[in-house]
Amino acid sequence: MKRRSSEVKLLAPMAAIVIVAVCALVGSLWVWAEQADGLARTREENLVRQGMTQMADDHSLLMTPITIWDAAVQDTAVKYDEKWVQANVGDYFKNYLNFESNLLIDPSGEIRFAYRDGHKADPATFSALMQQTREIVGELRKRHETRMARGQGYNAESNHVGRLIAADGRLYIMGASLLLPDARNSPLLKYKPFVTVGLHELKPAELIDLSRRYLVSDIRLAANNTTPARDHAVVAFRDEAGHVLAQLTWMPETPGRTLFIRTLGPVLMISLGLGLIAIVLLHQSQRAAQSLIASEAKAKHMALHDGLTGLPNRTLFADRLTQACERMKRHGGQVAVMCIGLDRFKDVNDTLGHVAGDQLIRYNAQKIATMIRSNDTLARLGGDEFVIVQSDTDGGSAATLAKRVLEALTGVVNLESGQVFSSCSIGVTVLSDGDIDPAEALRQADLALYRAKDLGRGQYAFFEIEMDATIKLRKTMETGLREAIHVGDINVVYQPQVDHYGQIVGVEALCRWTHPTRGPVSPGYFIPLAEECGLMNDLGTLVMRRAMQDARRWPGLKVAVNVSATQLRSADFIETLRGLLEETRTPASQIELEITEGVLLNDDHTTQLMLRDLRHMGFSIALDDFGTGYSSLGYLSRYPVDKIKIDRSFVSNLGIDPESEAVIRAIVKLSKALNLAIVAEGVETRTQKNILRQTGCTIIQGFLFSRPVPVADIDVIVRSGGRMTPTDAESEPARTAAAR
Ligand code: C2E
Ligand code: MG
Ligand code: MG
Repeated sequence: MKRRSSEVKLLAPMAAIVIVAVCALVGSLWVWAEQADGLARTREENLVRQGMTQMADDHSLLMTPITIWDAAVQDTAVKYDEKWVQANVGDYFKNYLNFESNLLIDPSGEIRFAYRDGHKADPATFSALMQQTREIVGELRKRHETRMARGQGYNAESNHVGRLIAADGRLYIMGASLLLPDARNSPLLKYKPFVTVGLHELKPAELIDLSRRYLVSDIRLAANNTTPARDHAVVAFRDEAGHVLAQLTWMPETPGRTLFIRTLGPVLMISLGLGLIAIVLLHQSQRAAQSLIASEAKAKHMALHDGLTGLPNRTLFADRLTQACERMKRHGGQVAVMCIGLDRFKDVNDTLGHVAGDQLIRYNAQKIATMIRSNDTLARLGGDEFVIVQSDTDGGSAATLAKRVLEALTGVVNLESGQVFSSCSIGVTVLSDGDIDPAEALRQADLALYRAKDLGRGQYAFFEIEMDATIKLRKTMETGLREAIHVGDINVVYQPQVDHYGQIVGVEALCRWTHPTRGPVSPGYFIPLAEECGLMNDLGTLVMRRAMQDARRWPGLKVAVNVSATQLRSADFIETLRGLLEETRTPASQIELEITEGVLLNDDHTTQLMLRDLRHMGFSIALDDFGTGYSSLGYLSRYPVDKIKIDRSFVSNLGIDPESEAVIRAIVKLSKALNLAIVAEGVETRTQKNILRQTGCTIIQGFLFSRPVPVADIDVIVRSGGRMTPTDAESEPARTAAAR
C-alpha cells in the first residue's frame, strides 16, 4: 500500500512533466507555424501590392499614343476643342484603354472636362478622388518642368504615372499623363500642357482574375470601416492622414498551419509514446530502487537481529546498551543488564531435537518480550541465552523483573514433539557508570548467571565484585582438570555396600581429583565443571576403565560406576563400553551402571532402547539418588532398571522426621512389587541402619561401614572374608561430606 502511494507520488509529477513537455512542443510548433504563416502572408501582400502597382503602371503606359501627339496639344493647350477631347480622350480611353472615367485637367489645375461611361460628367462627382488626382498631376508636372528647365526635353517613359487609388471604399486604377507634342523640340512645347487622367474601377471579377494571376485565394474588396480577420492578408489604401480608404483582403496560404495540422498527430503520438516509455522506465527503475531499498533494509535487519526470534542480536544489544547508558548519564537512574539462560536446554535439544529446541527458544522469547517496557531491550545472544537491557531502574526494580521472568519461564511447555519442563536462571548486573563497555556489562551479568546456575538453577543472582575471583578460580580449575584427565591423574576410590549381616556385596566407584596447588577438590564441584567444559566423556571413560580393571580383583563383587547424562547421550557410549570390556576382560555382569533420574526425565524412547541394550550386554542398572528431583514412580515400570538407591536426604532424616521413614517404606514396598533391588545411601548411624532394616531395606552404603576408600583397602576387606563392622559411635556420626 505504502509502495503504491509512493509510486503514485512519483508518477503524478512525471505525468505532469510529460504533459507540460508535450504542450511546450505543440506550443512551439504552433508559434513556428504562425511565424511561417506570417511570412507567407507578408509575401503574398507584397506580391499583390507590387503586382497591382505594376498593373496600374502598365495600364498608364497604354495612354502614350494619345498623350504624345501634336493634335492633343493643339486641341487642348493651344485651342481647347471639347468635341475632340470627348472623342479622343473620353471615348478612346473608355473603349480602348478600359478607363471608363477620365478627366482633363488644365494647367491651372481645374477640371476642364470630366467623362464617365460614355458621357460628359459633372466634375463634382469626382470630388472624392480629387485630392489624390491633384497629387499625381502635381508630381507629373513637377517632373516635366524639372526636365524642361534642365533642357533635357520630355521623356515619353516618365510622362505617365499609374497608381491604385481608393475612395469611398472603391478601388481604382488611375493613369495620368501630360498631353505633349510628338517632337521633343516642337514649338508646341511652349504651351503649358493639359493632363489627362484615366480611371478604372476594379470590379470583384477582376480581383478574382488577379487572384488567379498571383496564385492567391480570392481577393475581395473589404469595406474601409471593417477590421479584417487576423489571419487574413490585407493590402490597405490610406489617405495622407493614414485613414483606410479601401482594403483588399484574402485568405492567404497557411503553409505553417497546414504543416502543423499534418504533423500534430504524429508529433502527439510520438511524444505520448516517448512519455509512456519514460513513465514505464521510471516505474521500473522505481521498482528496482524500491526492491534495492527493501533488500538493503532486510540485510540491515538481518545484520542486527537474530534469525530465529527476530530479536536484536549481540551487535544491536551493545548499541542499545550504549544508548541506555547515555540516557542514564543525562537523566540519572541506573541500567540493569540481565542474562537469562534456559536450564537444561541442551537436554531438550538432545532428546527432542533441534526443532523442539528452536520452538522452546521462540516460546520463551515471546514470553519475556511481553514483560519488558517499551524502552527496554530484549536481545538473544545465541543458544539459550537472552539478555534484557532495563533502563531507568534500580536494584529493587531489576530484582522484581528477574523474579517475574523466572516465574513466567518456569513450567511445563507443550512443544510439537512433546512436553518439557522448562526453567531458567538469571544473572543481573546493575550499572551506575554510563561509560562502561557493553562487553564488560555482559561479562558481569554472565558471571552472575553462573552464580545463579551454581545456586541450583531456577534462581537469579546479582553480580558482585568477588565473582571475578570465582570465575578466575573456575578457569584455573578447568585448566587443571583438563590436564589431570589428560595425564590420568584422577583417582578412583570405592565405597562398600553391605547387607544386614555386615557382608560386603558391592562397591561404588567414586572419582577423586587433587589439584596440584589447591589440594583435593570435591566431585560435587569438578563433575559439573567437567560437564560444562566438555570433559565428562573423557573423565567417565577414565573412571570406567579403572573400575573395570579393579573389578577383576574382586570376583563376585558388584562394582557400581556413576554414568552421567552426557555420557549416556553420547553416540559412541555403547561402543566405548564394549571396547573397555574387551580391553579389561571384565564381565559386564560385574558392573552396575548408576544413572540419575534426570536422565529419564524426558521420557525418551532412545533412552529406553539404550538401557535395554546395556542390559543385554550384561550390565545392571541402578537408579541413583532416588527420590530427589523429578521422581516419578512411573519411570520404574517403563525403564529396565534393576536397583534403586534411596537418596541420602531421606536416610539422614530417619529417626528425626517420621515422614522420611514413611517415604522409605513406600519406596521399599514398590521396589519389592517391581522386583527391584534396593540400597540406602548415606547411612551413618546404627539407628538409621536399624530403621532401614525394619522397613525391609537390607543393603546399605554409608560412612557407618566405610567411607570411600582406595582399592587396596577393598582388597584387605575382600581378603578378610568381606565381613565389615559398623564404625560409628551413636553419639558421633561421621558427617563429613566427602572422603579423601
Ligand atoms: P553419588 O553417586 O550419590 O555418590 C555418593 C556420594 O555420597 C559420594 O560423594 C559419597 O562419598 C557420599 N557418601 C556416601 N556415604 C555417605 C555418608 O554416610 N554420609 C555422607 N555425608 N556422604 C556419604 P562423593 O564421592 O562426593 O560424590 C558425589 C557425587 O559425585 C556422586 O554422588 C556422584 O553423583 C558424583 N560422582 C562421583 N564420582 C563420579 C564419577 O566417577 N562419575 C560420575 N558421573 N559422577 C561421579
Ligand atoms: Mg552414585
Ligand atoms: Mg547417590
